[in-house]
Amino acid sequence: MSQQVRGIIARAKGEPVSMETIVIPDPGPGEAVVVIQACGVCHTDLHYREGGINDEFPFLLGHEAAGIVESVGTGVTDVAPGDYVILNWRAVCGDCRACRRGQPQYCFDTHNATQKMTLTDGTVLSPALGIGAFCDKTLVAAGQCTKVDPAASPAAAGLLGCGVMAGLGAAINTAGVTRGQTVAVFGCGGVGDAAIAGARLAGASTIIGVDIDDRKLEWAKGFGATHVCNSTETDPVEFIRSVTGGFGADVCIEAIGHPAVYKQAFEARDLAGTVVLVGVPNPEMMLELPFIELFGRGGALKSSWYGDCLPSRDFPMLIDLYLQGRLDLDGFVSETIGLDGVEEAFHKMERGEVLRSVVVF
Ligand SMILES: [Zn+2]
Ligand SMILES: [Zn+2]
Repeated sequence: MSQQVRGIIARAKGEPVSMETIVIPDPGPGEAVVVIQACGVCHTDLHYREGGINDEFPFLLGHEAAGIVESVGTGVTDVAPGDYVILNWRAVCGDCRACRRGQPQYCFDTHNATQKMTLTDGTVLSPALGIGAFCDKTLVAAGQCTKVDPAASPAAAGLLGCGVMAGLGAAINTAGVTRGQTVAVFGCGGVGDAAIAGARLAGASTIIGVDIDDRKLEWAKGFGATHVCNSTETDPVEFIRSVTGGFGADVCIEAIGHPAVYKQAFEARDLAGTVVLVGVPNPEMMLELPFIELFGRGGALKSSWYGDCLPSRDFPMLIDLYLQGRLDLDGFVSETIGLDGVEEAFHKMERGEVLRSVVVF
């Protein structure tokens, strides 16, 4: 027996989203149906709507979500009906070459539900990042459900499912920030501010936030930036050197995905330091760097996929830190909205007015 629920659809490139009736199949083998309690509005949802990811319209948007497992299919043992879960978009397979060599955070064959969710006329939907959670309920692979402490509010917890995890993980997993390090973060939106929060959590002693928007720099201070730099007024490379003894930062995290910004991150880094790219470039962008500098500066240039997180390892731990008051997830929730507020939330995001609007069901 399938069931019908409300969901937010992007039908065509650039068109406003609409609320439609979605058909959710019963979970098949290895699948779960989850009742969504909250889902954040992420740039990636807007990116799908703008046709920036692929052309597989219509999309069922939403992917930063927490909820309760309603039912599971055969063979599902890790989660059961009633479990409180955060949805993740990298359910590791356990069998690919990355998983087999003990690095499941890089899994090259992550799982999604096999069955499709549809409109009532049978049109197959493409769920955003294999989730589709601007919807009363959604169908996912059971491995996409990560159990966490139910004491955490769904609006805050759900954000760990994407952007906040990407930023936190860029600092704590990919860069491996440790006590006493100096860290510069370029871009102080949701992902960048999460990188700042991650650097603080890891014990960085100097944390520099760089952005072109003073409002975002104020947010950055709230998450732990010890210094901020408006790069329209001050050269960020000079600024970062000036507050790191003239050397540059041990870790520079690029949370924009733009070649000019990446170059700043590259130049603002101390010798043998680390640059982490967590911002997502578009396919047309090219990067040009002096090759000799690439050698001469040493260190590491890394990219961070989903904060190189392992959901089963990282989500419960970060929720525990949140519940202990050591990680401010609530600070990312700028507003809570209804399911019909997604289009307006896109506009607020484009105007830079919010870190996250979160749909609460
Ligand atoms: Zn794998
Ligand atoms: Zn996202």
